[in-house]
Amino acid sequence: MRHRPAARDAKLVEQFSHVDALVAGLFDGVFSVEEVGRRGHLGLGCGDHMDGELVVLDGVFHLCHGDGTVSVLAADDTLAFAEVVDFGPVAAELVEAVDSIDALTAAVAERVVSPNLFHAVRFDAHFATLSLREAKRQTKPYLPLAEAVHDQRENTVTDVTGTLLGFVAPSVFQGISVAGPHFHFLDTTGTVGGHVLGIGGATGELAVETYPGVTVRLPTTPEFLGADLELGDVDGAIRHAESDHQR
Ligand SMILES: [Zn+2]
Repeated sequence: MRHRPAARDAKLVEQFSHVDALVAGLFDGVFSVEEVGRRGHLGLGCGDHMDGELVVLDGVFHLCHGDGTVSVLAADDTLAFAEVVDFGPVAAELVEAVDSIDALTAAVAERVVSPNLFHAVRFDAHFATLSLREAKRQTKPYLPLAEAVHDQRENTVTDVTGTLLGFVAPSVFQGISVAGPHFHFLDTTGTVGGHVLGIGGATGELAVETYPGVTVRLPTTPEFLGADLELGDVDGAIRHAESDHQR
């Protein structure tokens, strides 16, 4: 059989911890910004103590906090979860009047060969409306994710320009990643951002890159090693956490 080194060198999605660990309430930051930043310059995640939504854009780690502020993280700051790529799309294309996350996901699907691989997305656009949420910093003992998200900040902004980015993952990866679309946003001023719950009237340049796999690094903290990760209805818990449901 012929040796094919090129296939082994393919770029992968680089992930730190997994979504099931968040579902179980493992919110401690265990991976440093420096460590994650060596693996990619575009991506998303969440902060130490589940504090806010991470936007990794051009190698800068922005954390959108539950109080509405956005900060830039330092190399020794830590993250509970992160997913990054060495993003290098071939081209970006103008996409107009995108009125939902489903429509954006469909626009991504039109540009890739198969839904069975990972896709990273960058959409530099103007949005007529954008619904965002930011998780609030949690304190120990942590609640499971499905309960912790009930105090999240939810906010709809209008007439905003910035970068929506993230991933569309194959459904079989639910629990490791988030199956289907998972997008975060940061505006051009770096002061508005979060996890994207909904979009309307979006026009901009859409870039997509496909990856044939994911590398997952697991925490080795006592909390992770001792956690019960037999979680039951993980799919339901993730769908609940990914939607809007402020109490
Ligand atoms: Zn998110």
